Amino acid sequence: MKALLLSEYSRLEIVDLPMPRPGPGEVLVRVQACGICGSDVHGYDGGSGRRIPPIVMGHEAAGTIAAVGPEVSGAREGEPITFDSTVYCGVCDYCSRGEVNLCDRRQVLGVSTPEYRRAGAFAEYLVVPDRIVHALPSNIAFPEAAMVEPLAVAVHAVSLANVPENGTALVVGAGMIGLLVLQALREAHCSRIYVVDIDESRLQLAQQLGATATINGKTADIQPEMQRLAPEGGVDVALEAVGSSATIKTAVESVRKGGSVVLIGNVVPTAEIPLQIVVSRQIRLQGSAASAGEYPQCIDMLARGAVNVKPLISMVAPLEEGPQWFERLHAREANLMKVILTPSERS
Ligand SMILES: [Zn+2]
Ligand SMILES: [Zn+2]
Repeated sequence: MKALLLSEYSRLEIVDLPMPRPGPGEVLVRVQACGICGSDVHGYDGGSGRRIPPIVMGHEAAGTIAAVGPEVSGAREGEPITFDSTVYCGVCDYCSRGEVNLCDRRQVLGVSTPEYRRAGAFAEYLVVPDRIVHALPSNIAFPEAAMVEPLAVAVHAVSLANVPENGTALVVGAGMIGLLVLQALREAHCSRIYVVDIDESRLQLAQQLGATATINGKTADIQPEMQRLAPEGGVDVALEAVGSSATIKTAVESVRKGGSVVLIGNVVPTAEIPLQIVVSRQIRLQGSAASAGEYPQCIDMLARGAVNVKPLISMVAPLEEGPQWFERLHAREANLMKVILTPSERS
């Protein structure tokens, strides 16, 4: 089968790999669409240390079931599906509590670390455990279904924010996750949602996707602007989707006393927090990791049009174009959001 292999850092090639075979409890998936995640781009050059070559990356995917292994019930060949990016064990204490993102034996598809290596979805086929598979309704196209994974990250973060009914929120960072968080907040019945970024085109997209108002941190002073927009002393919740000292400060300074800040972005291992504001204003800081059981809810949101992922997809391209799209994303080309590769065109 055809696969896009990271053979060494910053080198991707189309190679022919042996067809994987589903073992007990596993299914073989014919991959129709797989998004390039920021974490793939950070891993591509060795920066994150979580894509040790050789590895087939890709964890935001959708496709059809091509075959099922032993102990998998039903003949489901041809069924459209997506799957969790996290392979959880299903039996540890965390998994039993439904906190599958915290599983002690957690592995991520398309990731290789010194501890493990797990083939991803930039290939015509891959094998995944049946327990992480979710059926798709027929009205969701595969490239949009590949967006369920990042959407689940956003919905999970919002679920941890304890947004009050008709609450107010600030999203810091209008990248892929920030723009999905914005839409998840709308679905969580926020009355006003503000978005801060330094890129005007992304802020325009935020407006289009339902932001009440946006602030460009490059051209405006954020705090006076927030005081004008949320004169009640700050917003109820802030979701931080960048991960730097400056943006964490913006999030903390923008919530009301007793408010919550959910931290999603983590491009740097350590950052400063405005300690005295957090303590004296009794602000709750909450980390959010991946997702935990939000897939069915996200598939439903997409199916009924409660979330619009189309404006976030910049390009749908064949697998063969993968190397050049990785390069363009790595070079931080302007206005490039999600690029989705299609390893097996629908036959
Ligand atoms: Zn990802
Ligand atoms: Zn587990």
